[in-house]
Amino acid sequence: MKYTDGNNCFVYIDHDEGTINQVSLELLTEAKHLMKRLKAPEKVVAIWLGTFTDDILKMLGDYGADHIITCEREDLNQYDVMKHTTVISEMIDAYHPQSMLIGGTVKGRELAPRISARVHTGLTADATQIDLDGETHHLAITRPAFGGNLYATIITPDHFPQMATIRPGVFEAKTFGHTSLPTQETFQYDKALHSPIEVMAIEEKDTKRTNIADAKLIVSAGRGVKNCLNLVSDVAAHLNGEVASSRALVDGGIMSKNHQVGQTGHTVRPSLYIACGISGAVQHTAGMDKSDTIIAINTDENAPIFDVADLGIVGDAQAILKQLQKQLDA
Ligand SMILES: Cc1cc2nc3c(=O)[nH]c(=O)nc-3n(C[C@H](O)[C@H](O)[C@H](O)COP(=O)(O)OP(=O)(O)OC[C@H]3O[C@@H](n4cnc5c(N)ncnc54)[C@H](O)[C@@H]3O)c2cc1C
Repeated sequence: MKYTDGNNCFVYIDHDEGTINQVSLELLTEAKHLMKRLKAPEKVVAIWLGTFTDDILKMLGDYGADHIITCEREDLNQYDVMKHTTVISEMIDAYHPQSMLIGGTVKGRELAPRISARVHTGLTADATQIDLDGETHHLAITRPAFGGNLYATIITPDHFPQMATIRPGVFEAKTFGHTSLPTQETFQYDKALHSPIEVMAIEEKDTKRTNIADAKLIVSAGRGVKNCLNLVSDVAAHLNGEVASSRALVDGGIMSKNHQVGQTGHTVRPSLYIACGISGAVQHTAGMDKSDTIIAINTDENAPIFDVADLGIVGDAQAILKQLQKQLDA
């Protein structure tokens, strides 16, 4: 079977030697939801470069892929932006997909613009939302614009595929419980692939570094608690959670950028997000309002953070965290 004539949405599967980046599963899930809304539903097609296995086939199917196009060359096992750009651009020329989604990871952010330039189409980078245009059913892709002061929804009506990179954590990865496996076909690319990039060594990621994007529980600090951050860390540790922060503390040099939640930081969706001394500016809530439960502590009863909170506590965060710490100690 060959999927041609544009009836499909490509999702690039970002992986490290077979370990799939979560954002690719999030995009498969969202693509499936979007394609189902079309009158003539299009197929979700996962794009895989490198060695492929039956386990991967099943996993991609579980998260929404109807079909998988693979290019199983050994020299594609290790990510190389030049080689990956060439092969994916050739795939696009061969299959004419209607749209293509790529995770806004370090790799995706360098890969997507190169592909879009190669195939002469537009790219909406760093999207925070995807919808379908009511009349045309083109993708309506939303991203921050003008320095983040407003959101722009962008449609690419004249050039295909409609391409977007989407930040990790914006969508939820969910399995669909498929009864049948997705179909698979091989994209035969036999030409030599050249790249000026030579990988000298790969260093293991420091696993001790904060990974708030995947955290299930986050205690987040704003300017209102800048003088009692040890309390915030202590409560987070007691609850087995991670510490995050608003940009105010990052700009103030108190927290590292790696901790920042929001439009220009991480998008998080933990089970519980405790916002301590955070006002709730839209640039902050854009990165945390999809958390399952939000508890906000703020001295100002009119603080906008209470608009997104499930439970609001009006009071001094230091005093409240101290009480919580005592109870957790006990
Ligand atoms: C382009 C752009 C991008 C941005 N991106 C981001 C982003 O990604 N993430 C982000 O967070 N921000 C971002 N910002 C900044 C954002 O607009 C806010 O300025 C920032 O989120 C404010 O941080 P804050 O809530 O900690 O501080 P403040 O707004 O100063 O709020 C402090 C809050 O603490 C409360 N408070 C004070 N004392 C106490 C106390 N003892 N106990 C309890 N509460 C107390 C106050 O009532 C107040 O509500 C961005 C801004 C722009 C222009």
